[in-house]
Amino acid sequence: MAYYVTTPIYYVNAEPHLGHAYSTMAADVLARHMRQRGEDVFFLTGTDEHGEPIELAAERAGVTPQELADRNAAKFEALLPIIDATNDFFIRTSDPRHAERVAEIMQRVYDNGWVDKGTYEGWYCPRCADFKSEREQAPERTCPIHEIPLEEVREENWFFRLSAFQAQLEGLYEERPDFVVPEVRRNEALSFIEGGLEDVSLSRPKLKWGMPLPWDPEQRMYVWFDALLNYVTALGFAREGEDLTERFWPADLHVMAKEILKFHAVIWPALLWAADLEPPKRMAIHGFLLMGEKKMSKSLGNVLDPFEAIERYGADALRFYCFREVSFGQDGAISTAGFEARYETELANDFGNLASRVLAMVDRYRDATVPPAQVDAVLAEDFEGAVERFSGLLDRAELSQALEEAWRLVRRLNRYVEETRPWELAKDEADPERLDEVLYNLAEGLRVVTLLLVPYLPQTSDRLLAALSEDSRALAELGSHPGGQRIDRLPPLFPKIETGS
Ligand SMILES: [Zn+2]
Repeated sequence: MAYYVTTPIYYVNAEPHLGHAYSTMAADVLARHMRQRGEDVFFLTGTDEHGEPIELAAERAGVTPQELADRNAAKFEALLPIIDATNDFFIRTSDPRHAERVAEIMQRVYDNGWVDKGTYEGWYCPRCADFKSEREQAPERTCPIHEIPLEEVREENWFFRLSAFQAQLEGLYEERPDFVVPEVRRNEALSFIEGGLEDVSLSRPKLKWGMPLPWDPEQRMYVWFDALLNYVTALGFAREGEDLTERFWPADLHVMAKEILKFHAVIWPALLWAADLEPPKRMAIHGFLLMGEKKMSKSLGNVLDPFEAIERYGADALRFYCFREVSFGQDGAISTAGFEARYETELANDFGNLASRVLAMVDRYRDATVPPAQVDAVLAEDFEGAVERFSGLLDRAELSQALEEAWRLVRRLNRYVEETRPWELAKDEADPERLDEVLYNLAEGLRVVTLLLVPYLPQTSDRLLAALSEDSRALAELGSHPGGQRIDRLPPLFPKIETGS
């Protein structure tokens, strides 16, 4: 089955930061997991490059908007291998192949009668590139996000007839209760819709850095329309000489942060209907990672810089921490001290030590070969249904809950070591079959849990699965391998990091 997952396209007026990495890592976890389930995956990310904010930023920097876009898009693209993202394509909205397809789709929206010309009067934030209705404004007509005065605008605009889709949108939310997850964001979008939809401005006459409307080239498209359409247009040119639209549209999942909810959850489905296209199947909205902690960490300083954290601890540690510390979908505080604590207690102690112990015991007691044996009923009980539960959670984009499900198994295996005490069984070889059984179950349990953790800890999992002679990445149940495979010992998976102080 096809599985198409996207990140937002990132706006190139700023440098990439942890918030961008977070959305991309989330989409990557899902893409990797779905590949493990044998799905036909397409994973898209990219950059959003038009609009007044870019025009203004380029002016300040003394370069052309295209130069600024090129410079910053390259930084976003460079972030991907650093966080181990396995995207299939990187779209840039200044790509002429995107422009060509946007013009075609918007002409269809026009031909279908979903745009009107009118006079826009309202309040505009140039940094958001968005108009603010009365209820969206901060006191004294300022932008609540940027805290700058809004500009009063009165001009001829083309309008997208969003209000005409009110009933259809309400129907969509009723029919598909999980169209937007988590539920708090769904309710927010639905109440926005139920509050009454107004037509939205589609174009502006004064904008220079944007796409001309195909039916009125004097007007430039408001950046959100051209940006949203990337999810569809990319499929048309991501593969040379191949159109992937039939295969992957509608998208299975758009991943994004909550501040762009309205555009995706309200305007986007309506725009797609207006263009005779289907809306996406689902969107997963995450919260913000808040740097609340004032306490200095030993080595990482005060602010969690993703690049520095990766350089010292590896991308796996950052991926793990972000989904472990903050429940995906909610806002939560992160800190460098918290990062280092989880690295030590969970990655190094819980998981790293488990792996080292299991490999070392198989090596020492059974000459580096996993002895074939039966599944231990005591352990089977706790592994029963775990893979289905884990997959089910990721189907609902519950990344933190899925990780906890895997971690429950890590903790269970550690308890199993303590309960069975293989080193004592080895001293008294009166019952070698029991030691075989324990070592088999530990190696097998470690293999199963490591396969589950592949999307979160891709580099570590690769090393560990290689040490367990596991070539496949397909999800497996406890006992699905008969034993008999060779293992290799490994240096610590999560070594102690010298803090240099
Ligand atoms: Zn603003």
